[in-house]
Amino acid sequence: MNRLDNISKIKSTKLWDIIIIGGGASGLGSAIDSASRGYKTLLIEKYDFAKGTSSRSTKLVHGGVRYLQNGDVSLVTEALKERGLLRKNAPHLVQDLSFVIPSYDWWSSPFYGIGLKIYDMMAGKLGIGPSTILNKNETEALIPNVEKKGLKGGVIYYDGQFDDSRMAISLAQTAEDQNAVLLNYIEVIDLIKSSDETISGVVLKDSISQEKYQVKSKVVINATGVFSDTIMLIDDPKASRMIQPSQGVHVVLEKKFINSKHAIMVPHTSDGRVLFAVPWQNYVILGTTDTQVNRAEYEPKALEEEIDFIISNAGKYMTIKPNKSDIKSVFVGLRPLAISDNKNKSTKEISRHHKIKISTSGLISILGGKWTTYRKIGEDAINSAIIVGGLNSCKTLTENLPIHGYDSNPNFEDPLHVYGTNIDQIKKLTKDPKGNESLSKKLFITKHQILWAIQKEMAVNLEDVLARRTRCLFLDVFETEKLIDKVLKIMADALKQNKKWISEQKTIFLSLTKNYKI
Ligand SMILES: Cc1cc2nc3c(=O)[nH]c(=O)nc-3n(C[C@H](O)[C@H](O)[C@H](O)COP(=O)(O)OP(=O)(O)OC[C@H]3O[C@@H](n4cnc5c(N)ncnc54)[C@H](O)[C@@H]3O)c2cc1C
Repeated sequence: MNRLDNISKIKSTKLWDIIIIGGGASGLGSAIDSASRGYKTLLIEKYDFAKGTSSRSTKLVHGGVRYLQNGDVSLVTEALKERGLLRKNAPHLVQDLSFVIPSYDWWSSPFYGIGLKIYDMMAGKLGIGPSTILNKNETEALIPNVEKKGLKGGVIYYDGQFDDSRMAISLAQTAEDQNAVLLNYIEVIDLIKSSDETISGVVLKDSISQEKYQVKSKVVINATGVFSDTIMLIDDPKASRMIQPSQGVHVVLEKKFINSKHAIMVPHTSDGRVLFAVPWQNYVILGTTDTQVNRAEYEPKALEEEIDFIISNAGKYMTIKPNKSDIKSVFVGLRPLAISDNKNKSTKEISRHHKIKISTSGLISILGGKWTTYRKIGEDAINSAIIVGGLNSCKTLTENLPIHGYDSNPNFEDPLHVYGTNIDQIKKLTKDPKGNESLSKKLFITKHQILWAIQKEMAVNLEDVLARRTRCLFLDVFETEKLIDKVLKIMADALKQNKKWISEQKTIFLSLTKNYKI
């Protein structure tokens, strides 16, 4: 993935079949689907791939047990199928994960046990493993830090786990492998319309060079997540709002608070939501909340009551109870929920199912959805694009398309496993004997990873490297701050940048890290 090469392609291409606005899960899924069907495809991302919600998820590839409680059977069926396809097509990126639901009364285990048997049955052949009811000793053995007072037993069930922004980069590479052209740090600032008011292209602005381009296309897809209304308002200033953002907060703690390779799932917290404690690298993620907010923003802030809610609810299930001072990082995402017709519904009741809206101008907007179903979202968006753009019809190929780096036998103990078959190239990138040594004892980040991110993954700045190509910022903001100078030195040498650039990058990044602390 080379930014300058791709900029020259937007200058030399007269007409694209499909332009996709937004480089999150939905846009990347659409780009792969479109390019693999043979359409000339361009994807434009305003900041970095997965800068929006798609780097801020709970990192579960799941059917969504809790949607069964809401009676959303079709969503669960679809998500379970997509979970299976992701495990098949990206085995180096999706890991099986077992979840323990601890129970403190006599009825919980049989109650959740029955629900999870239905979940297993719905997954059918794509199931990961059968859910089982556990006794007290078995539950304690699986989760050593579980609260033992009053513990009666538990239930274990299975879903998948992934690293969301690493998945996004692999999807971007897959789309490029299929001849799509992708660009980050370019914003769609306007839509071009023909005399009949249908959309015929977009106006772009490169935020690095400040250059502007007019680019023509048969179809334009709006895959901007919580920012979808902005593009719809450019299309039609009288358009009504279609997205209800809902904020979800995660806090990250040291792994001792779970001390297990299994996750904890709490099906019913004090506000009726589900809470997860999920082991991730050497840490544990606790989350999430569901707070209705009125504004979409790139760096949403966690509310104090959301942090309190997570810490106090998680503490009820742990022997060593976390305090706010134990928090290593906080990250916040906005769910792009499609506004419900029923205005009385709370955000947690709004379906997570995606919708495809076609405006009279031909603009195709993707509303809502889940990371897990990104492939189906892409398929549905491109099916609509074929009709709107009068493109030669062709069926989706993505159910059987391996994701870049596909490795059928990954070693999940190796922190580089997310790169799949590229691992050897990364390890041999330079002759520096320290190139594969981690720069930190707590977090894993090597010189070779940083260079690879710049050379092959379109990383442009310090945030790209520390937040999304590696996950340092999301895991431990305090340790990440200690790495800034070392990482910037490697980046500046590779990019031939001077002291002024280093100092600017440091200042920008240090103002960002404030959002990841409480
Ligand atoms: C707290 C939380 C936890 C979640 N956990 C899970 C989970 O565990 N599993 C799961 O399956 N799903 C989960 N989800 C849902 C999932 O993360 C989202 O549905 C998904 O990431 C949305 O992707 P998207 O591409 O639609 O939006 P985004 O990822 O936000 O992408 C939109 C992109 O559009 C870009 N953009 C905006 N305007 C422009 C413009 N004018 N020009 C160019 N680009 C533009 C933005 O920069 C952004 O990168 C979670 C969501 C939240 C909030």
